[in-house]
Amino acid sequence: MKIICIGRNYLAHIAELDRDLPTEPLFFMKPESALLPQGMPFPYPSFSQIVHYETELVLRICKQGKEVGLERAHEYYDAVTVGVDFTARDVQQQCISKGHPWEKAKAFDFSAPVGEFKKISELQDACAIDFGMRLNGEWVQQGHSTDMIFSFDKIVSYVSHFVTLERGDYVFTGTPQGVGEVHVGDELELYLENQSVLVFKVI
Ligand code: MN
Repeated sequence: MKIICIGRNYLAHIAELDRDLPTEPLFFMKPESALLPQGMPFPYPSFSQIVHYETELVLRICKQGKEVGLERAHEYYDAVTVGVDFTARDVQQQCISKGHPWEKAKAFDFSAPVGEFKKISELQDACAIDFGMRLNGEWVQQGHSTDMIFSFDKIVSYVSHFVTLERGDYVFTGTPQGVGEVHVGDELELYLENQSVLVFKVI
């Protein structure tokens, strides 16, 4: 499986990092080794001094898709949860300034913890999903899917024109504002519609 991640999908987050507004979805990928096994803490990577959390809604792809039309995109994902797109921000800035790819900063081991999935069909309103993250008990990020620049359907359709979607792939859909640093000893708890879907520590 692979993990597809969308960047710059919430206006307020683009502003806080002083990035340009995208005219089409921006995506990158993480390998399967970026998943954090259940029950395991997140090991702070040795190569970075500034690791940021980015709390994001994550879709689960349910069938193979290539060049999926916008109107049929909803058939290609069946579940959603919340995950963290851990980013070595100092390394990412070095990559950006040199015009290099981001992989070192984004795709490293255990950089994509993902919570327990919930069926889209069981949500009250699949178009308006609340999510968030508490860091050491304090709310630091709260997002609403209605604030996304590119919708779930747009993302799935767009990506499938470049990369074939496979059953079991995950799609991180971008972070709202409020990204920040994690430190050794922190505890992160992820929420989907006020329900805890994952809790883990940083070691
Ligand atoms: Mn992200």
